[in-house]
Amino acid sequence: MADREVFDERFKRFLPGNCWLEKLCTGFRWAEGPVYFGDADHLLFSDVPNDRIMRWVEGSGVSLFRAPSHFSNGNTRDLEGRLVTCEHRTRRLTRTEYDGSVTVLVDRYEGKRFNSPNDVTVKSDGSIWFTDPTYGILTDYEGERSTEEIGGCNVYRLDPDGAVDVVADDFVMPNGIAFSPDESRLYVSDTGVSHIEGGPHHIRCFDVADDGSLKNDSLFAIIEPGASDGFRLDVDGNLWTSAGDGVHCYDPSGALLGKILVPETVSNLVFGGPRRNRLYITATTSLYAIYTGQNGAQKP
Ligand code: MG
Repeated sequence: MADREVFDERFKRFLPGNCWLEKLCTGFRWAEGPVYFGDADHLLFSDVPNDRIMRWVEGSGVSLFRAPSHFSNGNTRDLEGRLVTCEHRTRRLTRTEYDGSVTVLVDRYEGKRFNSPNDVTVKSDGSIWFTDPTYGILTDYEGERSTEEIGGCNVYRLDPDGAVDVVADDFVMPNGIAFSPDESRLYVSDTGVSHIEGGPHHIRCFDVADDGSLKNDSLFAIIEPGASDGFRLDVDGNLWTSAGDGVHCYDPSGALLGKILVPETVSNLVFGGPRRNRLYITATTSLYAIYTGQNGAQKP
């Protein structure tokens, strides 16, 4: 079929032949950071250069959720279901409360401002893990041109008591971040190729120790064409990632099983719908979706 490539028989079950890629809406500059709210029956996603968060409702369409969004990027939900957002221009992580007010979760490390938090995930112990590349401070297009204060692009863990630690400090541009379903592994992508010729365009995998540190760093997959801006896992631990030509699906060993081909460069994705079997895909100017044979692992 024209909208997929199959490299492994398993992928035919993961993407049944009668599931088709649908273009839901368009008109964005760089759609990113999709997060699904089953209770509200909507999907939120950032339109980064347009400084806004959009809301998609099945059967109703797209509308504005928040503007300005401070050039928000990655979004997720915490254990209580509240929206957690990475903001470029304000160089911080925020939480949207049930009453709609916004609380700053963290905006600096050891007194220095973050670069521009990019993507975020929440562990079942309440800790919040996020990446901090410089995309939002390099230009005014996706944030606000500013100087680095920390002097590195790190991966951080914010504990429920407010303590923030560096869990990895050897990335060029750490970007997408997600745990395996049992949280024994953390995956983090590096998209350094966007700004350094010959730079990384891969996903790394770490074992997560009981004390919240990372061990046993390994290369999970090299993504080409393009890079892995964002990704999510399904209940069986398969990793579905953005790439230059669409969505790539890898099994837990890092074998590429198949691709969903998308007409625009994909930034990120999230499983949604009541059964988490509808894959929402943010891709440059548009939002796409496709039903899959797999169910997403993200919580809640
Ligand atoms: Mg990203």
